[in-house]
Amino acid sequence: MGAMIPYVTATPDIRIPDSLLPADGRFGAGPSKVRTEAVDALAAVASTFLGTSHRQKTVKSVVASLRSGLSDLFSLPEGYVVALGNGGATAFWDIATFCLIERTSQHLSFGEFSSKFATAAKDAPHLGEPEVITSEVGTHPLPVASDTVDLYALTHNETSTGVMMPIRRPEGAALPADGGGLVAVDATSGAGGLRVDASEFDAYYFSPQKCFGSDGGLWIALLSPAAQERVASIKASGRWVPASMDLSIALDNSVLDQTYNTPALATIFLMDQQVQWFNDNGGMDFSAGRTARSAEILYTWADASDFATPFVTREQDRSHVIGTIDLDDAIDAAAVAAILRANGIVDTEPYRKLGRNQLRVAMFPSIDPEDIASLCASINYVVGAMAQ
Ligand SMILES: *Cc1c(COP(=O)(O)O)cnc(C)c1O
Repeated sequence: MGAMIPYVTATPDIRIPDSLLPADGRFGAGPSKVRTEAVDALAAVASTFLGTSHRQKTVKSVVASLRSGLSDLFSLPEGYVVALGNGGATAFWDIATFCLIERTSQHLSFGEFSSKFATAAKDAPHLGEPEVITSEVGTHPLPVASDTVDLYALTHNETSTGVMMPIRRPEGAALPADGGGLVAVDATSGAGGLRVDASEFDAYYFSPQKCFGSDGGLWIALLSPAAQERVASIKASGRWVPASMDLSIALDNSVLDQTYNTPALATIFLMDQQVQWFNDNGGMDFSAGRTARSAEILYTWADASDFATPFVTREQDRSHVIGTIDLDDAIDAAAVAAILRANGIVDTEPYRKLGRNQLRVAMFPSIDPEDIASLCASINYVVGAMAQ
């Protein structure tokens, strides 16, 4: 017929021995591993919890437990409020452009996620042109104190590249109480797995489907008194804000342990289970301890490997929650990820837009450090078998 036959590479049929396989094969960056114990706890209360009103005590008591659990986990100072609402971290960027940025923001842009908030601020017609400080992928910039900026936008962990950064107010910047800008941190993939000092931020926001081992759809924000004052002063200024994006409405509801509109009850329940699991085992020492241990295992393996290299050069920037590992050009990382997938080890594919010959591995607190060790052994096995 003369038609072109497309060139198809089949996934080689490589079976990883059971003795090497991790106990749980979920290593995705989000949605990520949800612990079986949390799902079992949800199943146990399903008939009295799911399908009941979010305005009644049954659900509100779980929201209250979640809010106070987060307050404990992050050792929130007096006056900080745990707020929540629908739409995930992505919605919170829009909420921030309406309710937290007065006029001009400064953004650190060092990957896909951190660049998105910068774009949202740039596109908002009621805001001035934002300052955007960029750096090469695989690194992070630092914020620069500026008199014209009223909000600094930081990202605790850039999920697309596997870079983490310390959360500190910009050097030399005035505190918000003295007229300085607010510090707002996208902590979607870092929160709960990386240590943070609450006095260094005014808004620390995240979604439940990463370190908090739940499902997506909610945003949670830890808000300092200065952030709450900003919300109130923008509201008083008369700026138009759509009700679903109005942080003052979200705050009013949050302190009553409810959301403005109907949330996913399972998501809230699973997240509360995770926060309880952290707190019952030692809080941030436990959860950040697990991610640090997993990261030590992953990067030690990659450093010693003759075919794998950590993508992030500076050791202190290598994320404890998302590991990005470059493979030698002779080894097709996409094929390795596909073979792992065929063996039940899923979601190790690289971030699609980064376009590197790379594996990306989540090391959220739910993920057992021993399973990270098993993953490394499984990758060694696959690469060895591919060379046969
Ligand atoms: C996953 C992620 C987001 C997006 O979260 P959604 O819940 O999908 O809105 C934003 N920022 C970072 C750093 C992320 O990792």
